[in-house]
Amino acid sequence: MVQSILQAVADAGRIVVCCHKSPDGDALGSSLAVAALLRQNGKETAVVVPDAYPDFLQWLPGSDRIVRHDKRPEAAEEAMAGADLLFCLDFNSVSRVEGLREALEKTPARKIMVDHHLAPEPFADIAVSRPDMSSTSEMVFRLVRQAGLMGQVGKDSASCLYCGMMTDTGGFTYNSGSPEIYLIISELLSKGIDKDRIYRRVFHNYSHWAIRLRGHVMCNKLRMVDGLHASYYTISKEEMARFHFVRGDAEGLVNEPLRIKGNRLSIALREDDRRADTVWVSLRSVDSFPCNKMAEEFFNGGGHLNASGGRLHCSLEEAAEVAEKAIRAYAALL
Ligand code: 5GP
Ligand code: MN
Repeated sequence: MVQSILQAVADAGRIVVCCHKSPDGDALGSSLAVAALLRQNGKETAVVVPDAYPDFLQWLPGSDRIVRHDKRPEAAEEAMAGADLLFCLDFNSVSRVEGLREALEKTPARKIMVDHHLAPEPFADIAVSRPDMSSTSEMVFRLVRQAGLMGQVGKDSASCLYCGMMTDTGGFTYNSGSPEIYLIISELLSKGIDKDRIYRRVFHNYSHWAIRLRGHVMCNKLRMVDGLHASYYTISKEEMARFHFVRGDAEGLVNEPLRIKGNRLSIALREDDRRADTVWVSLRSVDSFPCNKMAEEFFNGGGHLNASGGRLHCSLEEAAEVAEKAIRAYAALL
């Protein structure tokens, strides 16, 4: 696998690295680390992402050179069309790149997918799929090590990879039980990363409005479903306006109700602030409860066992009813 990736890189002149829409720490961390390595090896490389990413990731080294498709569609599409090789990181289906989908499907570039989501679609020429891994960033680390290129990984790339592993595991609180992860962290630390600072930059980055919104939602909006060890909450457009909502303000909030003793499933329903009739859904669970099955069945989505997402095209009130229904349908597993 590593040899075929190295060969594809050697054969390529221009390379694009892309990731899923609403890029998270893992999508960006893995993409920026791969791009840095390619550039160090003299490859003309662009990182193209579908749309905005949260403020708490702006510090990632190399993020200033990212091409956002929603902001610069021509530049993004030109880069994709002119690429010989496309790295597709942290997604397993072309539908996950949204606005970039057409460019991804049209480009003559060979495609390398590196991803840890379940059930990948066969869109790539070379596919590395490892749902057992904490993150795509961990997979990138392992591939780089197998390729014998660890010597080229500096503090900046190590910080990107650490950020990806840290964010996809909630600060190493889930999907992070494999001993190997800590050997990897040890190697990243030896590259000079400041892990405490990375943690603060990502998790201690709220505005006071975001903290107030979180307090409001937990105090006034959380619904515990009687006896079923599950909860959900809604956030409306009106509330977002009232609390000066900016992208990222609700990030991680869905995990909060899982701190309630015995709670096994948390569902967040957030009205889209621009598109009418779109409600974004996030699901988090503990232990064996399959969020992804519920997301597929009730919320037009999918994801991991304990962390999934989806969307509904209805009002927020109707979405709340769907959540109630979904929880009752899964009562036996709760
Ligand atoms: P979030 O709640 O952060 O939006 O999403 C949680 C997880 O679910 C992410 O890891 C994301 O990859 C996955 N996810 C979100 N939406 C979808 C979807 O529509 N399909 C699939 N397969 N996964 C999704
Ligand atoms: Mn990921």
